[in-house]
Amino acid sequence: MHNTTRSQELFSAAQTLMPGGVSSPVRAFRSVGGQPIVFDRVKGAYAWDVDGNRYIDYIGSWGPAICGHAHPEVIGALHEALEKGTSFGAPCALENQLAEMVIDAVPSVEMVRFVNSGTEACMSVLRLMRAFTGREKIIKFEGCYHGHADMFLVKAGSGVATLGLPDSPGVPRTTAASTLTAPYNDLEAVKQLFAENPGEIAGVILEPVVGNAGFITPEPGFLEGIRELTKENGALLVFDEVMTGFRISYGGAQAKFGITPDLTTMGKVIGGGLPVGAYGGRADIMGMVAPAGPMYQAGTLSGNPLAMTAGIKTLELLKQPGSYERLEAITKRLVDGIMDGARSAGLPITGGSISAMFGFFLCEGPVRNFEEAKAADTMRFGKLHRAMLERGIYLAPSAFEAGFTSLAHSDEDIDATIAAFRECFAAVA
Ligand SMILES: *Cc1c(COP(=O)(O)O)cnc(C)c1O
Repeated sequence: MHNTTRSQELFSAAQTLMPGGVSSPVRAFRSVGGQPIVFDRVKGAYAWDVDGNRYIDYIGSWGPAICGHAHPEVIGALHEALEKGTSFGAPCALENQLAEMVIDAVPSVEMVRFVNSGTEACMSVLRLMRAFTGREKIIKFEGCYHGHADMFLVKAGSGVATLGLPDSPGVPRTTAASTLTAPYNDLEAVKQLFAENPGEIAGVILEPVVGNAGFITPEPGFLEGIRELTKENGALLVFDEVMTGFRISYGGAQAKFGITPDLTTMGKVIGGGLPVGAYGGRADIMGMVAPAGPMYQAGTLSGNPLAMTAGIKTLELLKQPGSYERLEAITKRLVDGIMDGARSAGLPITGGSISAMFGFFLCEGPVRNFEEAKAADTMRFGKLHRAMLERGIYLAPSAFEAGFTSLAHSDEDIDATIAAFRECFAAVA
């Protein structure tokens, strides 16, 4: 059993200082049981905890570390930028540079606004959808996460798919009521929502590949169908690419699937490990944003020079030829190895990957939406998670989160991970 004494001490202390001992809930390991590991440092594909244990990391700070943690070129650029000051609160040339890179890369984006997180990007884009259309209702999908703003903290219990009920105390019922939900991959449900709310729906927001309900891919025709439905109904289509942006491909899921939304939200990779979010899209819609237009949205630290620097350097690294081929190849090999390991142990499993994003469910497939994902054996996943942790593999601490690889993961890292999975599946079977 690997020694985590220092982690345990620190986490115990943290629980008296911060709610649940963490700054963001999923880090607390509640859904897999056991104690979270307190990190000391990260480099490449690895993380070291405060007790000196090393882990091969498949979370990558929940997405940003796609080039590997603390990449020397990113760190070097940050050192240089740091000397010029940490915050300007005034226009800086780095914003132009990152904006141009984003506009060049992401098909839907003609203009972009930088913010500080994915949550901020999504809550701002929602205001923009409403401002542009003059309508209030939106459609989101069950199991999709768009940050923690009130309007998105809504799930639909089975049978009340059209009834917006808040997911958290503190979210006003009236706010939740304008958020309509449908099961992912269910075009008919979306069609019905449009029919029941004529002229009232501002738009549809979705994860073009779901990562926050486990890894779920859009079925052929789903994204195309949503694109058509939104057009027919005068509603906007928003791809939340906070997770998939620059990960599924350099141009995100929209480039991969060839479907262009009206607006796009970004985060995670775009900040290269510093706090950055962004939203962008059609120039006529973005023209509504203050000070160009009347829709107010602002930020003291938005467009921060350090954050822009980390983003620019990360995108430059990703743009080099062969990056996505490499990510695709190692990730596919990893998932094939995981599936094979589970089957050898006689366990039901379904899973997949696209580029540097992967996932699996411990149940028979296919899994097309959150409801079907719930068939996964979460108890067994918890055991698997703990067993993998002891073998130095750091997986997302939930059966309903996607996993991430990076350019820093070596073939040996992947081999070692597959071998650990094989042992652990046998142990939890
Ligand atoms: C992580 C995530 C967000 C929220 O981003 P934060 O930076 O954590 O606020 C929004 N949407 C999706 C799809 C995400 O994965």
